[in-house]
Amino acid sequence: MTISGNAKVCGVIGNPVGHSLSPMMQNYFAEKLNLDFAYIPCNVPDEQVGEAIRGIYALGFQGLNVTVPHKQRVMPHLLEIDEAARCIGAVNTLVRMEGGYKGYNTDAEGLYRALKRQGIQVAGQDCLLIGAGGAAKAVAYMLMKHQAKSIAILNRSPEKARLLADQMNRQFGRNTIKAMALSDYQNLEAPSYLAIQTTSVGMHPHPGHAAIEDPTFYKKIHTAIDIIYTPSRTRFMELVKEAGGQAFNGLDMLIYQGIIAFELWNPNVSITDETVDEIRVMMKKRLEGKS
Ligand code: NAP
Repeated sequence: MTISGNAKVCGVIGNPVGHSLSPMMQNYFAEKLNLDFAYIPCNVPDEQVGEAIRGIYALGFQGLNVTVPHKQRVMPHLLEIDEAARCIGAVNTLVRMEGGYKGYNTDAEGLYRALKRQGIQVAGQDCLLIGAGGAAKAVAYMLMKHQAKSIAILNRSPEKARLLADQMNRQFGRNTIKAMALSDYQNLEAPSYLAIQTTSVGMHPHPGHAAIEDPTFYKKIHTAIDIIYTPSRTRFMELVKEAGGQAFNGLDMLIYQGIIAFELWNPNVSITDETVDEIRVMMKKRLEGKS
């Protein structure tokens, strides 16, 4: 596809960004929709994030994705921050406004759309959130927003689970979340859970591990998402499947957070399920080093 002199330009900032699949994904969406749009990776040193944002505004960029480690660092440099992003405490998408950028977090809703695509319901479910780091905040927000019946957070550092539970319970004005230490999994009360695994345990280059190795724990899980997508089948997913549950990786969460960003930059467009299926295959090949 030809990019004209009037093309809408977006990009991703991170440090590093060389591994990012977003340029491949966003440029593919534009190609499928025949949009005059270009998306480029920009490696930004930690201390130059503010300068970078002012620079891309001056250059006329429509927006940006923001990846590790800049998701908090961008926040003081924005004109406005969407309520969900403020509650989650991280911004992964910037959208151009008059005078600056507005920050959004599309991770939470990206995961929700990924679940919906698999026919997995959140409302009324007993949920288990493993981990209490940055990604877990977006997941906790999504589970609260979409009316999970109960949420147990299990984390290696129980005080971090408690902080997250207190913050979300306060924010939503109900006591849905209970914090627990990872080692207390035997005390889980509900008979069966929808589980979201958000720790970095088992991620490339250290596959083959799960935060909880005890196979009896996995009998309590009917459906699970590991938000890790490298490797495509994690030890956590294997343990869930061996215990009889269904398990998915985090690639669709990554794809749908990108779709929501693309829709914010290009209002009135929508990405079809067919395009999602195509980009999933392309991204999987790239992750496996085959393209
Ligand atoms: P983070 O803020 O560093 O949090 C890491 C979490 O893992 C914490 O809960 C930490 O527990 C736990 N953990 C680390 N090592 C552990 C161990 N040995 N045993 C038990 N728990 C351990 O990281 P993050 O930004 O949340 O990212 C977490 C994962 O999510 C990464 O693999 C990332 O690639 C993935 N992710 C995927 C998507 C997607 O779109 N699919 C989006 C965002 C992130 P403590 O609190 O005790 O340290």
